[in-house]
Amino acid sequence: MADDTREQDRREAGVATGAGDVLPKKLRQGIILGKDGKPCRSCNSFADFKAAKSSITTTSSPNTLTSSLASQSPPPDCPPDVETLGRSSWTLLHSITATYPTQPTPAQQQDVKQFLGLFGKIYPCWTCAEDFQVWMKENRVRTESREEFGRWMCEAHNGVNRKLGKREFDCNRWEERWRTGWKDGSCD
Ligand SMILES: Cc1cc2nc3c(=O)[nH]c(=O)nc-3n(C[C@H](O)[C@H](O)[C@H](O)COP(=O)(O)OP(=O)(O)OC[C@H]3O[C@@H](n4cnc5c(N)ncnc54)[C@H](O)[C@@H]3O)c2cc1C
Repeated sequence: MADDTREQDRREAGVATGAGDVLPKKLRQGIILGKDGKPCRSCNSFADFKAAKSSITTTSSPNTLTSSLASQSPPPDCPPDVETLGRSSWTLLHSITATYPTQPTPAQQQDVKQFLGLFGKIYPCWTCAEDFQVWMKENRVRTESREEFGRWMCEAHNGVNRKLGKREFDCNRWEERWRTGWKDGSCD
């Protein structure tokens, strides 16, 4: 993210965009709202989303509520939270790089650029989408070969990992993780 503080202020203030929209606000306790003004399911963890809804009716103390919900994941047949959506999306994105040609034509390169441009606009977690668009502006997608594209995607994913305080992935191993399987044969 280019400027965390400015971006955070902008979100919390609900500043108007160039298109005339007003971005949804983020609640004080960190719950991200959707364009409809309600807690955004695909922008929050399931625990946070549930806590936001429960806090309206529950008499539990916030600490009790948080600890009882912290380990919860959405049931598999429910709409995805930010983590389930993220895992599935990264699987798709890395798998696209894994099947990308080693020597792509100009048309194939154009296709993935267009896809990522649209993906960054319509990704269901709007805060994730905004940050991803900024990242893509600062780190132009590299489509010249499968190796370049796979590494670029790995770096994009590491950008989000860093933002979330997660460990970075070793991009020398992106192909083992997403195309060939590990060299120890554990995926064969
Ligand atoms: C474009 C995008 C933007 C996102 N932005 C946000 C956000 O702003 N806030 C938020 O809370 N969540 C965001 N997410 C979701 C977040 O990145 C995670 O998907 C989610 O937190 C679940 O994380 P996880 O630890 O299960 O593993 P994930 O990060 O989903 O990773 C899945 C698997 O990919 C592999 N992997 C990890 N890092 C790399 C890498 N660098 N290269 C290749 N493989 C790797 C690992 O094997 C890992 O188990 C975003 C997702 C996407 C697709």
